[in-house]
Amino acid sequence: MTSCYIGRFAPSPSGPLHFGSVIAALGSFLQARSRGGQWLVRMEDIDIPRVQPGAADDILRTLEKLHLFWDGEVFYQSRGNAAYREAEALLESRQLLYPCACTRRDIQGQRYSGHCRNGLPPGKAGRSVRIKTTSEPVSFADRVQGVQWQNLQNETGDFIIRRADNITAYHLAVVVDDAWQGVTEIVRGNDLMDSTPRQIYLQELLGYPTPDYCHLPVAVNPDGRKISKQNHAPGVRTHSPSRVLHNALQFLGQGPDPALRDASIETVIDWGIKNWDLEKVPRLETIMFADDHRATATQV
Ligand code: GLU
Ligand code: ZN
Repeated sequence: MTSCYIGRFAPSPSGPLHFGSVIAALGSFLQARSRGGQWLVRMEDIDIPRVQPGAADDILRTLEKLHLFWDGEVFYQSRGNAAYREAEALLESRQLLYPCACTRRDIQGQRYSGHCRNGLPPGKAGRSVRIKTTSEPVSFADRVQGVQWQNLQNETGDFIIRRADNITAYHLAVVVDDAWQGVTEIVRGNDLMDSTPRQIYLQELLGYPTPDYCHLPVAVNPDGRKISKQNHAPGVRTHSPSRVLHNALQFLGQGPDPALRDASIETVIDWGIKNWDLEKVPRLETIMFADDHRATATQV
């Protein structure tokens, strides 16, 4: 079967693959494979200060162990993409960008007020580059979470597209790479839902197609905190691959047969591809993942 479907998994190598990222990996993999589509892996290592040495290889070895085999070569953002600066130049030529002198401390975790929008304050030098936002709502129909919309001006403010350390910001890099790699649908964790309107805004300004979006529920600990590298979630590499995938299928509402826990990894993957149904994924933002074999559907 041929298909124009291109999906991807885009981990940041800031630690080993933990259960939270296995869900995004497996969900995007099954959504692509069940359609006969391609599945790419992109290593989002552009944020060099946050990269942990060895983590990229560790993630790839874990994906292989889980039989989540990707198509083609892994693309490493750190190897550079001339398209980042081309995209920036295009936005610049449309007078959408401006230098910003504010530090994180000036902003204090608040929405950016547009302080430097009409020119740098006297005596201040530009540090980062921001893009002007508008109050025109950006909306999209998420295939799991339903219709979403955001007023960027009020909710995020003008956002950074090149950081003070001269690194292309995540939102611009992700949009350029998805377009450049021809990604048609993005399946990822719901923790990135709030980023999506900024990314769609950039796609529209750059004349890129907007892919479909599926934001999967995010695994949280019984205390309600996201299972993430920031919370030092353990890597899954040491667990039995079939059990990890069985748990992830259960988490994603696919109702896997308990016997798959002890089946071969090939059997689990085959079952997943044949039975994958996006409609069964719980329409929840978070799901508590209590222990080794129980995902409790609780909205937090
Ligand atoms: N690299 C991002 C992360 O690991 C994901 C980016 C994306 O899926 O768009 O959180
Ligand atoms: Zn500023």
